[in-house]
Amino acid sequence: MANEEVLDGRPSGEDREYDERIRPERLDDFPGQEAIKEKLRISIAAAKARREPLDHMLLSGPPGLGKTTLARILASEMQVDIKSTSGPVIERQADLSAILTSLEEFDVLFIDEIHRLNHAVEETLYSAMEDFEVDIMLGKGPTARSMKIGLRPFTLIGATTRSGLLTPPLRARFGDTCRFEFYTPEELEAIVTRSARILGVEIDPEGALEIAARSRGTARIANRLLRRVRDYAQVKGDGTITRDLADAALRLQRIDELGLDDMDKSILHTVIQKFSGGPVGLSSLAVAVGEEAQTLEEVHEPFLIQIGFLKRTPQGRVATPLAYKHFGMALPPDPQPRLF
Ligand code: ADP
Repeated sequence: MANEEVLDGRPSGEDREYDERIRPERLDDFPGQEAIKEKLRISIAAAKARREPLDHMLLSGPPGLGKTTLARILASEMQVDIKSTSGPVIERQADLSAILTSLEEFDVLFIDEIHRLNHAVEETLYSAMEDFEVDIMLGKGPTARSMKIGLRPFTLIGATTRSGLLTPPLRARFGDTCRFEFYTPEELEAIVTRSARILGVEIDPEGALEIAARSRGTARIANRLLRRVRDYAQVKGDGTITRDLADAALRLQRIDELGLDDMDKSILHTVIQKFSGGPVGLSSLAVAVGEEAQTLEEVHEPFLIQIGFLKRTPQGRVATPLAYKHFGMALPPDPQPRLF
């Protein structure tokens, strides 16, 4: 089963149902990530022609950009089944072996947050990926012995928000790596328009673009904002999402014109006001804003860095002049030159 842990704002309950309805199922139905799609179309056609599984593949990038969705699409394009799990959920080697031995020929095994696998489990994965075999322990104590079991050829798709944390031996066993990029407003507009069509919501192009522009380059956020704006349109408007209506609805959600929410603003205000613009270490910043360091690093910072508001330096996080300007704050004076 997929990991249920909420680390990155993944939907639960009712939201998950909504999510399932609008999740693209084919490559042609998945707007954006053009470079990745072009490469994968070739890999799929080649693997099918050779009657081989797809190469093991690593998908990396911030949360909500479509890594899980793409893994499912790859399985459906290859007409095979997919089993999904996640790094922290597989605690023992035996758990992984059980999953691996249950895979049918060419099936996809999707491991989300693959950088969080424990060491012993990761080692089991090496021979599974390379030679399609696993060591299974038979018996216990002094009489225990290990036996190699052959696996049916399969494709491992690993997803990670932190590709830098992958160990070199694991990284080396992936035949292909796809780095997901933040979506452009035009791509997000296509995503919002598509989701609205599936949900039967009336939306005009400017309305879709307004939501897109405030979605922090992230497909999951675009879909979530569409849902909030849809509620607003139903209650305050005539059900149609226009630009003005989207703007009013998103203001009510305290999402500014760049898509920054209260946590993003709090991060930047804290760096600027409490730490004189930085540099400030990640853990001090996390305590000051009351959020987990890991969430700051994986969920909030990538977009702030992408729009040039925050910099990661060896000394810590630094707010850039662009961030000061956005909040109408005066830049601190240059430090006095040191004479000695
Ligand atoms: P990740 O695994 O990278 O965190 P997901 O694959 O779970 O992201 O995608 C998050 C949400 O965004 C899902 O609801 C998915 O349907 C939607 N989504 C992601 N990428 C796209 C896309 N290119 N087009 C349309 N919807 C997308």
